[in-house]
Amino acid sequence: MPSSVEPHLVWFRRDLRLDDNPAWSGHDGPTVALFVLDPRPWHAAGPRRQSLLAAHLRSLDTALRQRGGGLLVLGGDPVDVVPRAAAALGARAVSWNADVSGYAQRRDAAVAAALRSDGIEVATHWGTLVHAPGAIRAKSTGTVPRVFTPFHKQWAATEWDDWTLDGDVSVLDPATLPGLAHLPVVPVAEASDGTVGGEDVAHARLRRWLDDVDGYPDRRDRPDDAEGTSHLSADLRFGTLSPRTVATVIGDSTAGRGAFVRQLAWRDWYAHLFVERPELATHAMAPGLDDIAWLDDPEGLEAWRTGRTGYPIVDAGMRELAATGWMHNRVRMITASFLVKDLLIDWRLGEAHFRRELVDFEVSQNVGNWQWVAGTGPDAAPYFRIFNPIMQGRKFDPDGAYVRRWVPELRELSDRDIHTPWEVAPLDLAVAGITLGETYPWPIVDHAMARDRTLAAYGAAKGTA
Ligand SMILES: Cc1cc2nc3c(=O)[nH]c(=O)nc-3n(C[C@H](O)[C@H](O)[C@H](O)COP(=O)(O)OP(=O)(O)OC[C@H]3O[C@@H](n4cnc5c(N)ncnc54)[C@H](O)[C@@H]3O)c2cc1C
Repeated sequence: MPSSVEPHLVWFRRDLRLDDNPAWSGHDGPTVALFVLDPRPWHAAGPRRQSLLAAHLRSLDTALRQRGGGLLVLGGDPVDVVPRAAAALGARAVSWNADVSGYAQRRDAAVAAALRSDGIEVATHWGTLVHAPGAIRAKSTGTVPRVFTPFHKQWAATEWDDWTLDGDVSVLDPATLPGLAHLPVVPVAEASDGTVGGEDVAHARLRRWLDDVDGYPDRRDRPDDAEGTSHLSADLRFGTLSPRTVATVIGDSTAGRGAFVRQLAWRDWYAHLFVERPELATHAMAPGLDDIAWLDDPEGLEAWRTGRTGYPIVDAGMRELAATGWMHNRVRMITASFLVKDLLIDWRLGEAHFRRELVDFEVSQNVGNWQWVAGTGPDAAPYFRIFNPIMQGRKFDPDGAYVRRWVPELRELSDRDIHTPWEVAPLDLAVAGITLGETYPWPIVDHAMARDRTLAAYGAAKGTA
């Protein structure tokens, strides 16, 4: 039975906050807050991202309860569930923040078409990005700039479009809604596994980051430095923080602050590119580089995934990912480069692993960065620049603290030796309690050989372009 109040429905997705959210605050009147638990992305996520989502939903529900309402969570395919819910609740309008992936765009177009055909108004916003896709275009081509620096220049100089945030919203309590009986309601208040979520926690993290942000240019590349980067990526991914709030709170009054906010432009850039070219999810942007003769090497892939490659900085990163769902950016670059350039394994297989494991996984960011490392994407690292995992380890983890933390079996080696256990004299290895091939693997590939092999494979693919 339709409700007599004809509520506004706000469909929350990757914007799990009430603050600085144009889809939430852009209208007046009685409102139902809806989240749809879509089995497809839910099953694609590893347990850490699932737990974090559950924690954010609980927290959003609590915030809405404090305002006299609550979060309605329904299960199923949104293309079916959102129009059904809107009809059952007698909604007059539905709003949401748009999303970038091909899947999301197709889904949202189908939902919008179904709602409109029922006479229900649809309002979409871009509350997950600083600038909406399309706001930054190269003058010569009218497309998203293919090089980051000009994109950033224009991104920084472009005024933000208006987000209406002064709506007088009164949230309804889902338990009191007529029409609910026939909808697939999912309980939000399941037992917590201890994961903490929500926008208050995210704001606290942002405030703490203010103490460290000035060190960002010097410290951001040191994976052992827990305060060297902001750890805000999952908040941005789930939208417990608005990117505009982050940019505003940090500002650009110092070099460190400016350098940090510039990173948000990378985030917008990959999102904008993706909206324009959704096929980037599976196809190289660079001509010819879709046809590299990748190796079929399930054992190498498994060694990489499990942190058993014999290259300590690579193994440390992969183990950090497995243990926490997060990995430091420098080490993401090193591990991704190792898979693609040392093992000559297709970047799409690495992307798929990160896709499942990362708590901050978002398709445009993950694919954009993987293609950057693989040298196949826009403004990517040139394919012939190949990271040396030993030099990278020595440079960015000079005292081995990061490796010692995640690869404890190498703990007793000296700061220098810890990045090359296979070069350590047998007696020193024995004293450190290490037996190569037993307590820690031999390197699964020789870097110099692998480098030549990769240059040849990329060269051949380019030659055939
Ligand atoms: C192979 C690979 C895969 C990646 N996959 C993802 C992903 O799925 N989701 C994701 O959010 N980031 C991804 N990144 C980018 C980056 O590693 C993370 O955003 C960063 O490590 C998150 O930690 P932080 O919040 O402490 O970063 P900070 O250094 O504090 O940066 C602040 C914010 O700026 C943005 N940012 C920073 N670096 C980048 C970048 N290279 N590209 C785009 N945005 C950036 C992020 O939103 C980040 O939270 C990937 C990088 C690589 C090399």
